[in-house]
Amino acid sequence: MAGIACGSQIILCDLPIRLDTYQGCSHFCRYCFVRKQYDISNIKPVKCAGALRNFISGKRPETVNWCDWDIPLHWGGVSDPFQPAERLHRASLQCLDVFADTGYPFVFSTKGQLVVEPEYLARIRASRCVAQVSMVCSRYDQMETGAPSYDERLGMCEKTGAKRLARDRSCPALSAGSQRRRFEELASLAGCGRLRRGFRRYEVQRREGRHGKTRG
Ligand code: SF4
Repeated sequence: MAGIACGSQIILCDLPIRLDTYQGCSHFCRYCFVRKQYDISNIKPVKCAGALRNFISGKRPETVNWCDWDIPLHWGGVSDPFQPAERLHRASLQCLDVFADTGYPFVFSTKGQLVVEPEYLARIRASRCVAQVSMVCSRYDQMETGAPSYDERLGMCEKTGAKRLARDRSCPALSAGSQRRRFEELASLAGCGRLRRGFRRYEVQRREGRHGKTRG
């Protein structure tokens, strides 16, 4: 569900309250768990800047009013806030205005290049936020056919002026409900020798000697 909502992993997640300014996502990642819930090609904006302002001021709907502190929101739990549709609808820009205005903390997840355009970047720099840009390697481009390529995403990170680029080899998008076959396909594409199942996620580890030492 888009807008402000709780994820299904509320008791496990550090950021259980999410914000989604879109329903659907044009990146069409083959591993996307949301594809199992509804047709993500049907993309609709969710204009929720007013609801966001209410949430920040303490007027929280029943589904999230168990939380009465300034918990950082996770923006982009079931969609990408800066996917191409944003250029037309500008639902995310309106929420960025609220975040920049209030200083409320948030973490956003994106693969969308719009985020580095000046009007977006200026608001992001005026906000208290952490950016997450998921990427593994260029071999994954064929699994994320609607998203900017791996190299384009690296360029995005540079443009944001990010001080630190975490090279995370884990795949949090791969929930326990996904199929083993899909994991093996991903591991093969990334040049990984084996998969290690962690708590609620699978970690991919690269073959020793090809990309450096395998870490346990
Ligand atoms: S960017 Fe995220 S929400 Fe969009 S298709 Fe990929 S995994 Fe799903």
